[in-house]
Amino acid sequence: MDLILNLMDGVSMPAVSNAWIDVYEPATGAVLARLPDSDERDVELAYLAADRAVAGWKAMGREGRSNVLLRLAQLIEDDLEAFAQLESKDNGKPLALARKVDIPRAVANFRFFATAILHFPSEAHVMDDVAVNWTDRQPIGVVGCISPWNLPLYLFTWKIAPALAAGNCVVAKPSEVTPCTAHRLSTLCARAGMPSGVLNIVHGLGPKVGAAITAHPGIPAISFTGGTRTGAEIARVAAPMFKKLSLELGGKNPVLVFDDCDMEEALSTTVRSSFTNQGQICLCGSRILVHERIYARFRDAFVSRVEQLRVGDPTSPDSDLGAVVSRDHMEKVLSYIDLARTEGGKVLCGGTRVQLEGALSDGWYIAPTVIEGLGPQCRTNQEEIFGPVVTLQSFTSDEEAIAQANSTPYGLAAVIWTTDLKRSHKVARAINAGIVWVNCWMVRDLRTPFGGMKQSGVGREGGVDALRFFTEAKNICIKL
Ligand code: NDP
Repeated sequence: MDLILNLMDGVSMPAVSNAWIDVYEPATGAVLARLPDSDERDVELAYLAADRAVAGWKAMGREGRSNVLLRLAQLIEDDLEAFAQLESKDNGKPLALARKVDIPRAVANFRFFATAILHFPSEAHVMDDVAVNWTDRQPIGVVGCISPWNLPLYLFTWKIAPALAAGNCVVAKPSEVTPCTAHRLSTLCARAGMPSGVLNIVHGLGPKVGAAITAHPGIPAISFTGGTRTGAEIARVAAPMFKKLSLELGGKNPVLVFDDCDMEEALSTTVRSSFTNQGQICLCGSRILVHERIYARFRDAFVSRVEQLRVGDPTSPDSDLGAVVSRDHMEKVLSYIDLARTEGGKVLCGGTRVQLEGALSDGWYIAPTVIEGLGPQCRTNQEEIFGPVVTLQSFTSDEEAIAQANSTPYGLAAVIWTTDLKRSHKVARAINAGIVWVNCWMVRDLRTPFGGMKQSGVGREGGVDALRFFTEAKNICIKL
Protein backbone atom coordinates (compact mmCIF):
# COMPACT_ATOMS: atom_id res chain seq x y z
CA MET A 1 0.00 0.00 0.00
CA ASP A 2 1.32 3.43 -0.89
CA LEU A 3 1.93 6.08 1.72
CA ILE A 4 1.12 9.63 0.70
CA LEU A 5 3.09 12.34 2.49
CA ASN A 6 2.79 16.09 2.81
CA LEU A 7 5.41 18.27 1.13
CA MET A 8 6.60 20.77 3.74
CA ASP A 9 9.52 23.06 3.18
CA GLY A 10 10.94 20.62 0.65
CA VAL A 11 10.61 17.61 2.96
CA SER A 12 8.09 14.74 2.67
CA MET A 13 6.45 14.13 6.05
CA PRO A 14 3.35 12.83 7.79
CA ALA A 15 0.79 15.07 9.47
CA VAL A 16 1.52 16.53 12.90
CA SER A 17 -1.37 14.40 14.22
CA ASN A 18 0.33 11.29 12.82
CA ALA A 19 -3.19 10.14 11.88
CA TRP A 20 -4.01 8.67 8.47
CA ILE A 21 -6.96 8.45 6.09
CA ASP A 22 -7.60 5.56 3.70
CA VAL A 23 -7.65 6.23 -0.04
CA TYR A 24 -9.75 3.83 -2.12
CA GLU A 25 -9.37 2.47 -5.62
CA PRO A 26 -12.74 3.04 -7.34
CA ALA A 27 -12.27 0.13 -9.76
CA THR A 28 -12.12 -2.43 -6.94
CA GLY A 29 -13.37 -0.63 -3.83
CA ALA A 30 -10.14 -1.69 -2.06
CA VAL A 31 -7.82 0.54 -0.04
CA LEU A 32 -5.08 1.83 -2.31
CA ALA A 33 -3.07 4.19 -0.12
CA ARG A 34 -3.13 6.21 3.09
CA LEU A 35 -2.79 9.95 3.33
CA PRO A 36 -1.96 12.26 6.23
CA ASP A 37 -4.97 13.49 8.19
CA SER A 38 -3.56 17.01 8.42
CA ASP A 39 -5.09 19.94 10.24
CA GLU A 40 -4.47 23.62 10.95
CA ARG A 41 -1.09 22.86 12.53
CA ASP A 42 0.21 21.46 9.23
CA VAL A 43 -1.26 24.41 7.34
CA GLU A 44 0.58 26.75 9.71
CA LEU A 45 3.89 24.93 9.10
CA ALA A 46 3.28 25.04 5.36
CA TYR A 47 2.48 28.73 5.54
CA LEU A 48 5.65 29.51 7.51
CA ALA A 49 7.77 27.60 4.99
CA ALA A 50 6.09 29.37 2.08
CA ASP A 51 6.49 32.76 3.71
CA ARG A 52 10.23 32.16 4.24
CA ALA A 53 10.61 31.17 0.58
CA VAL A 54 8.79 34.17 -0.96
CA ALA A 55 11.72 36.59 -1.23
CA GLY A 56 14.08 34.05 -2.80
CA TRP A 57 11.54 32.78 -5.32
CA LYS A 58 10.65 36.31 -6.38
CA ALA A 59 14.34 37.18 -6.68
CA MET A 60 14.86 34.31 -9.14
CA GLY A 61 12.99 36.46 -11.64
CA ARG A 62 10.66 35.37 -14.38
CA GLU A 63 13.29 33.48 -16.31
CA GLY A 64 14.60 31.63 -13.28
CA ARG A 65 11.11 30.55 -12.25
CA SER A 66 10.19 29.70 -15.82
CA ASN A 67 13.18 27.37 -16.09
CA VAL A 68 12.20 25.51 -12.91
CA LEU A 69 8.63 25.03 -14.13
CA LEU A 70 9.80 23.89 -17.56
CA ARG A 71 12.07 21.31 -15.93
CA LEU A 72 9.17 20.13 -13.78
CA ALA A 73 7.00 19.78 -16.91
CA GLN A 74 9.73 17.69 -18.52
CA LEU A 75 10.08 15.44 -15.46
CA ILE A 76 6.33 14.75 -15.49
CA GLU A 77 6.41 14.07 -19.21
CA ASP A 78 9.33 11.67 -18.80
CA ASP A 79 7.25 9.85 -16.17
CA LEU A 80 3.94 10.10 -18.05
CA GLU A 81 3.06 6.43 -18.06
CA ALA A 82 3.52 6.03 -14.29
CA PHE A 83 1.53 9.20 -13.63
CA ALA A 84 -1.27 8.03 -15.94
CA GLN A 85 -1.49 4.61 -14.29
CA LEU A 86 -1.63 6.22 -10.86
CA GLU A 87 -4.30 8.72 -11.90
CA SER A 88 -6.47 5.99 -13.39
CA LYS A 89 -6.09 3.79 -10.29
CA ASP A 90 -6.83 6.65 -7.89
CA ASN A 91 -9.77 8.15 -9.77
CA GLY A 92 -11.32 5.22 -11.67
CA LYS A 93 -11.01 6.94 -15.05
CA PRO A 94 -9.97 4.95 -18.13
CA LEU A 95 -6.19 4.70 -18.34
CA ALA A 96 -6.39 5.77 -21.98
CA LEU A 97 -7.99 9.05 -20.90
CA ALA A 98 -5.35 9.72 -18.25
CA ARG A 99 -2.64 9.03 -20.85
CA LYS A 100 -4.21 11.21 -23.51
CA VAL A 101 -5.75 14.05 -21.50
CA ASP A 102 -4.99 14.33 -17.78
CA ILE A 103 -1.23 13.98 -17.65
CA PRO A 104 -0.39 15.69 -20.98
CA ARG A 105 -2.53 18.59 -19.82
CA ALA A 106 -0.65 18.82 -16.51
CA VAL A 107 2.56 19.04 -18.53
CA ALA A 108 0.97 21.66 -20.78
CA ASN A 109 -0.20 23.71 -17.78
CA PHE A 110 3.38 24.05 -16.52
CA ARG A 111 4.78 24.76 -20.00
CA PHE A 112 2.05 27.26 -20.77
CA PHE A 113 2.44 29.36 -17.61
CA ALA A 114 6.24 28.97 -17.54
CA THR A 115 6.32 30.71 -20.91
CA ALA A 116 3.26 32.96 -20.44
CA ILE A 117 5.01 34.75 -17.58
CA LEU A 118 7.85 35.67 -19.94
CA HIS A 119 5.34 37.40 -22.23
CA PHE A 120 3.05 38.88 -19.58
CA PRO A 121 2.76 42.45 -20.85
CA SER A 122 3.14 45.55 -18.73
CA GLU A 123 0.57 48.29 -19.24
CA ALA A 124 1.18 52.04 -19.49
CA HIS A 125 -1.38 54.84 -19.83
CA VAL A 126 -0.01 58.15 -21.04
CA MET A 127 -1.94 61.36 -20.24
CA ASP A 128 -0.77 63.60 -23.10
CA ASP A 129 1.83 65.95 -21.62
CA VAL A 130 0.64 65.54 -18.03
CA ALA A 131 1.82 62.22 -16.67
CA VAL A 132 2.46 58.58 -17.44
CA ASN A 133 0.86 55.75 -15.48
CA TRP A 134 2.28 52.31 -15.46
CA THR A 135 0.87 49.21 -13.84
CA ASP A 136 3.25 47.37 -11.61
CA ARG A 137 2.19 43.74 -10.97
CA GLN A 138 3.90 42.13 -8.01
CA PRO A 139 3.38 38.59 -6.71
CA ILE A 140 0.91 38.45 -3.83
CA GLY A 141 3.12 36.41 -1.48
CA VAL A 142 1.67 33.15 -0.14
CA VAL A 143 -1.44 31.91 -1.93
CA GLY A 144 -3.79 28.97 -1.36
CA CYS A 145 -4.84 26.49 -4.08
CA ILE A 146 -7.62 23.96 -3.40
CA SER A 147 -8.56 21.46 -6.10
CA PRO A 148 -11.16 18.68 -6.68
CA TRP A 149 -11.04 14.97 -7.53
CA ASN A 150 -12.43 14.76 -11.04
CA LEU A 151 -9.29 15.82 -12.96
CA PRO A 152 -6.81 15.55 -10.10
CA LEU A 153 -3.39 16.49 -11.51
CA TYR A 154 -4.88 18.47 -14.42
CA LEU A 155 -6.72 20.92 -12.12
CA PHE A 156 -4.09 20.92 -9.37
CA THR A 157 -1.44 22.09 -11.85
CA TRP A 158 -3.89 24.50 -13.55
CA LYS A 159 -3.79 26.44 -10.27
CA ILE A 160 -0.28 26.02 -8.94
CA ALA A 161 1.46 26.66 -12.29
CA PRO A 162 0.24 30.28 -12.74
CA ALA A 163 0.58 30.95 -9.00
CA LEU A 164 4.24 29.86 -9.04
CA ALA A 165 5.07 31.45 -12.39
CA ALA A 166 3.78 34.79 -11.12
CA GLY A 167 6.24 34.57 -8.21
CA ASN A 168 4.07 33.37 -5.34
CA CYS A 169 4.73 30.55 -2.94
CA VAL A 170 1.90 28.10 -2.53
CA VAL A 171 0.07 26.16 0.15
CA ALA A 172 -1.93 23.62 -1.86
CA LYS A 173 -4.55 21.04 -0.97
CA PRO A 174 -5.47 18.37 -3.50
CA SER A 175 -8.72 16.48 -3.01
CA GLU A 176 -8.48 13.94 -0.22
CA VAL A 177 -10.30 11.51 -2.53
CA THR A 178 -7.55 11.55 -5.20
CA PRO A 179 -4.23 12.65 -3.70
CA CYS A 180 -1.83 10.24 -5.45
CA THR A 181 -0.55 12.19 -8.45
CA ALA A 182 -0.07 15.41 -6.45
CA HIS A 183 2.09 13.34 -4.11
CA ARG A 184 4.10 11.95 -7.02
CA LEU A 185 4.55 15.50 -8.32
CA SER A 186 5.90 16.55 -4.91
CA THR A 187 8.73 14.03 -5.27
CA LEU A 188 9.94 15.78 -8.46
CA CYS A 189 10.07 19.39 -7.25
CA ALA A 190 13.60 19.31 -5.81
CA ARG A 191 14.95 17.62 -8.97
CA ALA A 192 13.41 20.42 -11.02
CA GLY A 193 15.44 22.90 -8.96
CA MET A 194 12.50 24.32 -7.03
CA PRO A 195 13.71 25.84 -3.76
CA SER A 196 12.29 24.38 -0.54
CA GLY A 197 9.10 26.00 0.69
CA VAL A 198 8.03 27.35 -2.70
CA LEU A 199 5.39 24.64 -3.10
CA ASN A 200 3.90 23.04 0.00
CA ILE A 201 1.25 20.34 -0.29
CA VAL A 202 -0.97 19.61 2.69
CA HIS A 203 -3.13 16.51 2.33
CA GLY A 204 -6.28 15.89 4.31
CA LEU A 205 -9.95 16.68 4.66
CA GLY A 206 -11.57 19.79 3.22
CA PRO A 207 -13.24 20.94 6.43
CA LYS A 208 -9.88 20.72 8.25
CA VAL A 209 -7.12 21.55 5.76
CA GLY A 210 -9.12 23.51 3.14
CA ALA A 211 -10.88 25.47 5.86
CA ALA A 212 -7.57 26.28 7.61
CA ILE A 213 -6.07 27.58 4.34
CA THR A 214 -9.18 29.68 3.72
CA ALA A 215 -9.13 31.17 7.22
CA HIS A 216 -5.37 31.75 7.46
CA PRO A 217 -4.68 35.48 7.88
CA GLY A 218 -1.33 35.24 6.05
CA ILE A 219 -2.84 33.79 2.86
CA PRO A 220 -4.57 36.67 1.10
CA ALA A 221 -5.62 34.87 -2.11
CA ILE A 222 -7.41 31.55 -2.63
CA SER A 223 -7.96 29.77 -5.93
CA PHE A 224 -10.59 27.10 -5.50
CA THR A 225 -12.22 24.58 -7.85
CA GLY A 226 -15.00 22.41 -6.50
CA GLY A 227 -18.67 22.34 -5.63
CA THR A 228 -20.85 25.44 -5.36
CA ARG A 229 -21.71 24.75 -1.72
CA THR A 230 -18.03 24.56 -0.73
CA GLY A 231 -17.35 27.71 -2.78
CA ALA A 232 -20.06 29.55 -0.85
CA GLU A 233 -18.51 28.45 2.45
CA ILE A 234 -15.07 29.64 1.33
CA ALA A 235 -16.53 32.98 0.24
CA ARG A 236 -18.33 33.36 3.59
CA VAL A 237 -15.07 32.91 5.52
CA ALA A 238 -12.83 34.85 3.14
CA ALA A 239 -15.02 37.88 2.43
CA PRO A 240 -14.66 39.63 5.83
CA MET A 241 -10.89 39.14 5.50
CA PHE A 242 -11.02 40.83 2.03
CA LYS A 243 -9.20 37.94 0.38
CA LYS A 244 -8.86 37.69 -3.36
CA LEU A 245 -10.96 34.75 -4.53
CA SER A 246 -11.14 32.77 -7.73
CA LEU A 247 -13.99 30.26 -7.52
CA GLU A 248 -14.57 27.67 -10.25
CA LEU A 249 -17.74 25.87 -9.22
CA GLY A 250 -20.43 23.51 -10.45
CA GLY A 251 -22.43 23.44 -13.66
CA LYS A 252 -25.57 22.11 -15.32
CA ASN A 253 -24.47 22.67 -18.86
CA PRO A 254 -26.94 22.71 -21.77
CA VAL A 255 -26.26 21.21 -25.20
CA LEU A 256 -28.48 22.87 -27.84
CA VAL A 257 -29.08 20.78 -30.95
CA PHE A 258 -30.78 22.75 -33.75
CA ASP A 259 -32.51 21.12 -36.70
CA ASP A 260 -29.91 22.43 -39.15
CA CYS A 261 -26.99 20.77 -37.34
CA ASP A 262 -24.54 18.27 -38.78
CA MET A 263 -26.29 15.31 -37.18
CA GLU A 264 -23.34 12.92 -37.28
CA GLU A 265 -20.96 15.37 -35.58
CA ALA A 266 -23.59 16.44 -33.07
CA LEU A 267 -24.29 12.84 -32.11
CA SER A 268 -20.73 11.62 -31.77
CA THR A 269 -19.52 14.67 -29.85
CA THR A 270 -22.59 14.71 -27.59
CA VAL A 271 -21.86 11.12 -26.59
CA ARG A 272 -18.38 12.33 -25.56
CA SER A 273 -19.59 15.53 -23.89
CA SER A 274 -22.06 13.48 -21.84
CA PHE A 275 -19.94 10.56 -20.68
CA THR A 276 -16.22 11.34 -20.85
CA ASN A 277 -14.67 10.67 -17.43
CA GLN A 278 -18.01 9.06 -16.39
CA GLY A 279 -19.65 12.49 -16.81
CA GLN A 280 -17.45 13.88 -14.03
CA ILE A 281 -16.12 16.93 -15.84
CA CYS A 282 -17.50 20.32 -14.90
CA LEU A 283 -17.78 21.02 -18.65
CA CYS A 284 -19.84 17.93 -19.53
CA GLY A 285 -23.21 18.70 -21.08
CA SER A 286 -25.94 17.28 -18.87
CA ARG A 287 -29.12 18.79 -20.38
CA ILE A 288 -29.49 17.98 -24.07
CA LEU A 289 -32.04 20.27 -25.71
CA VAL A 290 -33.12 19.18 -29.20
CA HIS A 291 -35.34 20.91 -31.76
CA GLU A 292 -38.69 19.10 -31.91
CA ARG A 293 -38.37 18.46 -35.67
CA ILE A 294 -35.35 16.20 -35.13
CA TYR A 295 -36.01 15.16 -31.53
CA ALA A 296 -37.14 11.56 -32.17
CA ARG A 297 -34.41 10.91 -34.74
CA PHE A 298 -31.69 12.36 -32.51
CA ARG A 299 -32.97 10.56 -29.40
CA ASP A 300 -33.08 7.14 -31.05
CA ALA A 301 -29.64 7.45 -32.61
CA PHE A 302 -28.16 8.89 -29.40
CA VAL A 303 -29.57 6.15 -27.17
CA SER A 304 -28.41 3.44 -29.54
CA ARG A 305 -24.84 4.82 -29.41
CA VAL A 306 -24.90 5.19 -25.64
CA GLU A 307 -26.03 1.57 -25.32
CA GLN A 308 -22.88 0.54 -27.15
CA LEU A 309 -20.56 2.24 -24.64
CA ARG A 310 -18.64 -0.27 -22.55
CA VAL A 311 -18.33 0.18 -18.79
CA GLY A 312 -15.41 -1.80 -17.46
CA ASP A 313 -11.91 -2.19 -16.12
CA PRO A 314 -10.28 1.27 -16.38
CA THR A 315 -7.01 -0.33 -17.51
CA SER A 316 -8.64 -2.08 -20.48
CA PRO A 317 -8.43 -0.28 -23.82
CA ASP A 318 -11.96 -1.59 -24.50
CA SER A 319 -13.55 0.41 -21.67
CA ASP A 320 -15.24 3.67 -22.61
CA LEU A 321 -16.23 4.37 -19.01
CA GLY A 322 -14.44 3.32 -15.84
CA ALA A 323 -15.65 3.64 -12.25
CA VAL A 324 -17.07 6.75 -10.59
CA VAL A 325 -14.83 8.20 -7.95
CA SER A 326 -16.25 6.91 -4.66
CA ARG A 327 -18.99 4.86 -3.08
CA ASP A 328 -20.60 8.05 -1.73
CA HIS A 329 -20.56 9.60 -5.15
CA MET A 330 -22.00 6.48 -6.77
CA GLU A 331 -24.84 6.51 -4.26
CA LYS A 332 -25.46 10.20 -4.87
CA VAL A 333 -25.67 9.69 -8.65
CA LEU A 334 -27.96 6.64 -8.29
CA SER A 335 -30.21 8.64 -5.94
CA TYR A 336 -30.60 11.27 -8.66
CA ILE A 337 -31.67 8.56 -11.12
CA ASP A 338 -34.29 7.47 -8.57
CA LEU A 339 -35.34 11.09 -8.19
CA ALA A 340 -35.73 11.41 -11.96
CA ARG A 341 -38.05 8.39 -11.95
CA THR A 342 -40.05 9.87 -9.07
CA GLU A 343 -40.35 13.13 -10.98
CA GLY A 344 -41.87 11.23 -13.91
CA GLY A 345 -38.77 10.77 -16.07
CA LYS A 346 -38.43 7.81 -18.41
CA VAL A 347 -35.04 6.08 -18.28
CA LEU A 348 -34.19 5.28 -21.92
CA CYS A 349 -30.98 3.41 -21.14
CA GLY A 350 -28.73 2.69 -18.16
CA GLY A 351 -30.19 3.75 -14.85
CA THR A 352 -28.42 1.18 -12.70
CA ARG A 353 -25.17 0.24 -11.03
CA VAL A 354 -23.03 -2.07 -13.18
CA GLN A 355 -21.78 -5.14 -11.36
CA LEU A 356 -18.48 -6.35 -12.80
CA GLU A 357 -16.84 -9.65 -11.96
CA GLY A 358 -13.83 -10.94 -10.06
CA ALA A 359 -11.52 -8.33 -8.56
CA LEU A 360 -13.78 -5.57 -9.89
CA SER A 361 -16.97 -6.87 -8.27
CA ASP A 362 -16.87 -4.29 -5.47
CA GLY A 363 -16.01 -1.39 -7.80
CA TRP A 364 -18.25 1.63 -8.28
CA TYR A 365 -19.62 1.51 -11.82
CA ILE A 366 -22.74 3.13 -13.25
CA ALA A 367 -24.27 2.49 -16.68
CA PRO A 368 -24.43 5.61 -18.89
CA THR A 369 -27.96 6.86 -18.41
CA VAL A 370 -30.29 8.86 -20.66
CA ILE A 371 -33.60 10.20 -19.31
CA GLU A 372 -36.46 11.96 -21.10
CA GLY A 373 -39.86 13.34 -20.20
CA LEU A 374 -38.81 15.88 -17.57
CA GLY A 375 -39.47 19.63 -17.69
CA PRO A 376 -36.79 22.27 -17.22
CA GLN A 377 -37.83 23.16 -13.68
CA CYS A 378 -37.66 19.74 -12.02
CA ARG A 379 -34.76 19.01 -9.67
CA THR A 380 -33.18 16.53 -12.09
CA ASN A 381 -32.81 19.37 -14.59
CA GLN A 382 -31.83 22.00 -12.04
CA GLU A 383 -29.25 20.33 -9.77
CA GLU A 384 -25.75 19.19 -10.62
CA ILE A 385 -25.49 15.38 -10.72
CA PHE A 386 -21.86 15.17 -11.92
CA GLY A 387 -22.07 11.60 -13.17
CA PRO A 388 -22.95 9.58 -16.29
CA VAL A 389 -26.53 10.89 -16.46
CA VAL A 390 -28.06 13.19 -19.07
CA THR A 391 -31.59 14.31 -19.86
CA LEU A 392 -33.23 15.00 -23.22
CA GLN A 393 -35.76 17.81 -23.72
CA SER A 394 -37.23 19.34 -26.85
CA PHE A 395 -37.77 22.95 -27.93
CA THR A 396 -39.69 24.63 -30.73
CA SER A 397 -37.87 27.94 -31.31
CA ASP A 398 -34.54 29.64 -30.76
CA GLU A 399 -36.11 31.72 -28.01
CA GLU A 400 -37.37 28.66 -26.18
CA ALA A 401 -33.98 26.96 -26.52
CA ILE A 402 -32.24 30.00 -25.02
CA ALA A 403 -34.77 30.25 -22.18
CA GLN A 404 -34.32 26.57 -21.34
CA ALA A 405 -30.54 26.84 -21.53
CA ASN A 406 -30.61 29.77 -19.09
CA SER A 407 -33.14 28.24 -16.71
CA THR A 408 -30.76 26.92 -14.01
CA PRO A 409 -28.80 28.73 -11.29
CA TYR A 410 -25.57 27.69 -13.06
CA GLY A 411 -23.73 29.30 -15.98
CA LEU A 412 -20.47 27.46 -16.67
CA ALA A 413 -20.51 26.09 -20.23
CA ALA A 414 -22.83 25.45 -23.18
CA VAL A 415 -22.60 23.70 -26.53
CA ILE A 416 -24.49 24.77 -29.67
CA TRP A 417 -24.98 22.56 -32.71
CA THR A 418 -26.03 24.52 -35.82
CA THR A 419 -24.72 25.21 -39.31
CA ASP A 420 -26.41 28.63 -39.39
CA LEU A 421 -23.73 31.24 -38.73
CA LYS A 422 -26.18 33.97 -37.72
CA ARG A 423 -27.97 31.67 -35.31
CA SER A 424 -24.69 30.54 -33.74
CA HIS A 425 -23.74 34.17 -32.99
CA LYS A 426 -27.19 35.09 -31.73
CA VAL A 427 -27.63 32.07 -29.46
CA ALA A 428 -24.04 32.05 -28.18
CA ARG A 429 -24.34 35.67 -27.08
CA ALA A 430 -27.72 35.11 -25.42
CA ILE A 431 -26.62 32.18 -23.27
CA ASN A 432 -25.53 33.03 -19.75
CA ALA A 433 -22.41 30.89 -19.56
CA GLY A 434 -18.73 31.69 -19.29
CA ILE A 435 -17.77 29.24 -22.05
CA VAL A 436 -19.76 28.51 -25.23
CA TRP A 437 -18.65 25.97 -27.82
CA VAL A 438 -20.19 26.00 -31.29
CA ASN A 439 -20.02 22.69 -33.17
CA CYS A 440 -17.33 21.34 -30.84
CA TRP A 441 -16.67 20.53 -27.18
CA MET A 442 -13.64 20.72 -24.88
CA VAL A 443 -11.53 22.47 -27.50
CA ARG A 444 -9.30 24.45 -25.16
CA ASP A 445 -6.86 27.25 -25.85
CA LEU A 446 -5.14 27.95 -22.53
CA ARG A 447 -4.97 31.67 -23.33
CA THR A 448 -8.76 32.09 -23.16
CA PRO A 449 -10.69 33.20 -20.05
CA PHE A 450 -12.10 30.17 -18.25
CA GLY A 451 -14.86 30.34 -15.66
CA GLY A 452 -18.53 30.56 -14.94
CA MET A 453 -21.39 32.98 -14.40
CA LYS A 454 -24.09 32.88 -11.70
CA GLN A 455 -23.52 30.01 -9.23
CA SER A 456 -20.78 28.52 -11.42
CA GLY A 457 -18.20 30.84 -10.00
CA VAL A 458 -16.46 34.14 -9.62
CA GLY A 459 -13.50 35.26 -11.69
CA ARG A 460 -11.73 33.74 -14.66
CA GLU A 461 -8.70 31.47 -14.91
CA GLY A 462 -6.39 30.84 -17.85
CA GLY A 463 -3.97 33.06 -19.76
CA VAL A 464 -3.51 36.61 -18.51
CA ASP A 465 -6.57 36.28 -16.27
CA ALA A 466 -4.75 33.75 -14.08
CA LEU A 467 -1.56 35.83 -14.02
CA ARG A 468 -3.58 38.90 -13.08
CA PHE A 469 -5.34 37.00 -10.33
CA PHE A 470 -2.05 35.85 -8.85
CA THR A 471 -0.50 39.33 -8.86
CA GLU A 472 -1.39 42.58 -7.15
CA ALA A 473 -1.73 45.57 -9.47
CA LYS A 474 -0.36 48.95 -8.48
CA ASN A 475 -0.72 52.10 -10.57
CA ILE A 476 2.37 54.31 -10.50
CA CYS A 477 1.69 57.79 -11.83
CA ILE A 478 4.72 59.92 -12.78
CA LYS A 479 4.38 63.58 -13.74
CA LEU A 480 5.91 64.40 -17.10
P1 NDP B 1 -15.78 19.81 -3.22
O1 NDP B 1 -16.30 21.19 -3.20
O2 NDP B 1 -16.38 18.81 -2.31
O3 NDP B 1 -14.22 19.79 -2.91
C1 NDP B 1 -13.27 20.54 -3.63
C2 NDP B 1 -12.04 20.75 -2.76
O4 NDP B 1 -12.41 21.56 -1.64
C3 NDP B 1 -11.50 19.44 -2.18
O5 NDP B 1 -10.10 19.53 -2.08
C4 NDP B 1 -12.15 19.42 -0.81
O6 NDP B 1 -11.50 18.61 0.10
C5 NDP B 1 -12.07 20.89 -0.44
N1 NDP B 1 -12.98 21.31 0.62
C6 NDP B 1 -14.08 20.68 1.10
N2 NDP B 1 -14.65 21.40 2.10
C7 NDP B 1 -13.91 22.52 2.25
C8 NDP B 1 -13.99 23.67 3.10
N3 NDP B 1 -14.94 23.81 4.02
N4 NDP B 1 -13.07 24.63 2.95
C9 NDP B 1 -12.11 24.54 2.02
N5 NDP B 1 -11.96 23.47 1.19
C10 NDP B 1 -12.84 22.47 1.30
O7 NDP B 1 -15.85 19.34 -4.74
P2 NDP B 1 -15.51 17.91 -5.30
O8 NDP B 1 -14.11 17.53 -4.95
O9 NDP B 1 -16.63 17.00 -4.94
O10 NDP B 1 -15.50 18.20 -6.89
C11 NDP B 1 -16.64 18.16 -7.66
C12 NDP B 1 -17.19 19.55 -7.87
O11 NDP B 1 -16.21 20.37 -8.48
C13 NDP B 1 -18.37 19.57 -8.81
O12 NDP B 1 -19.36 20.42 -8.28
C14 NDP B 1 -17.80 20.18 -10.08
O13 NDP B 1 -18.74 20.83 -10.87
C15 NDP B 1 -16.79 21.11 -9.54
N6 NDP B 1 -15.79 21.42 -10.57
C16 NDP B 1 -15.78 22.68 -11.13
C17 NDP B 1 -14.88 22.98 -12.15
C18 NDP B 1 -14.83 24.35 -12.75
O14 NDP B 1 -13.83 24.65 -13.39
N7 NDP B 1 -15.83 25.19 -12.60
C19 NDP B 1 -13.95 21.97 -12.66
C20 NDP B 1 -14.05 20.70 -11.99
C21 NDP B 1 -14.94 20.44 -10.97
P3 NDP B 1 -11.98 17.07 0.29
O15 NDP B 1 -11.69 16.37 -0.96
O16 NDP B 1 -11.17 16.60 1.42
O17 NDP B 1 -13.44 17.13 0.63
